[in-house]
Amino acid sequence: MKTKTFKMPVLFILGIGLFFYSCTSSDDNSNNSTTSSTPTPVQTHGALMVDGNQILNENGATVSFAGNSLFWSNTGWGGEYFYNASVIDWLHSDWNTTIVRAAMGVEESGGYLEDSSNKQKVKTVVDAAINKGLYVIIDWHTSHAEDYETQAIQFFEEMATLYGDYDNVIYEIYNEPLQISWDNIIKPYAESVISAIRAIDSDNLIIVGTPSWSQDVDIASNNPITGYSNIAYTLHFYAGTHKQSLRDKAQTALNNGIALMVTEWGTVNADGDGPVDYDEVAEWMDFLCANSISHCNWAINDKDEGASALLPGSSTTGNWTVSDLSPSGILVKDIVENWNSDCN
Ligand code: MG
Repeated sequence: MKTKTFKMPVLFILGIGLFFYSCTSSDDNSNNSTTSSTPTPVQTHGALMVDGNQILNENGATVSFAGNSLFWSNTGWGGEYFYNASVIDWLHSDWNTTIVRAAMGVEESGGYLEDSSNKQKVKTVVDAAINKGLYVIIDWHTSHAEDYETQAIQFFEEMATLYGDYDNVIYEIYNEPLQISWDNIIKPYAESVISAIRAIDSDNLIIVGTPSWSQDVDIASNNPITGYSNIAYTLHFYAGTHKQSLRDKAQTALNNGIALMVTEWGTVNADGDGPVDYDEVAEWMDFLCANSISHCNWAINDKDEGASALLPGSSTTGNWTVSDLSPSGILVKDIVENWNSDCN
């Protein structure tokens, strides 16, 4: 953490230094271009770090980000058409989104293992997020990651090499484990992938999935990963299904000292469909805000199901009006665009 007791001459020298740095530096590895004079999220908050059960910005302040997850990237599933810079630019400018998530399908049909173009879709989104100064999650979107550890390591080594110097980038190494052992399966997998990433990128945030579709954060908190910095844990919820009992598990995890990120949540039922549960979404947002937990809503897609933010046939390049948004999309846009003023 930085001292807050600079003396005047130090401030003066720092000011001169910063002035010349900002005029001359071409070493722009994280702050990202923008035509606006408003600082981007990454310009404002820089490299994120985990301290106890909190994720802090580079100034040591607690902060939470609100944004959107894209749908599965799998070729032929429909959601892949939204993996473009126009969508990211629109979410930035119209939704005030500060964090986005690229959900790269792995072993299922049209996924990365059979179609490597999924990787290019992810890179398109990451590059667009960097360009706008947003945080971006690279998500290994599978429920069987332990079966593809070699491929995960190879993929994340490549991502760390490409993006490890960008403060924007967050690695999510296992979307939703099934009801399998944290101690014997998930944690060993995570340690292998984390070790590979850390050999290349010493500091960017790594988010680790937890048992039971990333709900059992309390179990992970009983045996957390040690020996690496900036590790946080995934909490997922769907408001129509998951209520106070899941918040209690999250509170247990926080009390046990691990940091959480909601890399995916829905306003509807856990199957991705059904009506918006407005009351429960409000409960969840209060909880996330009170605990400075960042969150990405599932999903920017126009599939005909409750969780989609967009109605079927919406533009795949942004420029959406309210008539393009689903009930979920309308609620989520309101939450996301006001998060910074309502919460931070
Ligand atoms: Mg780094």
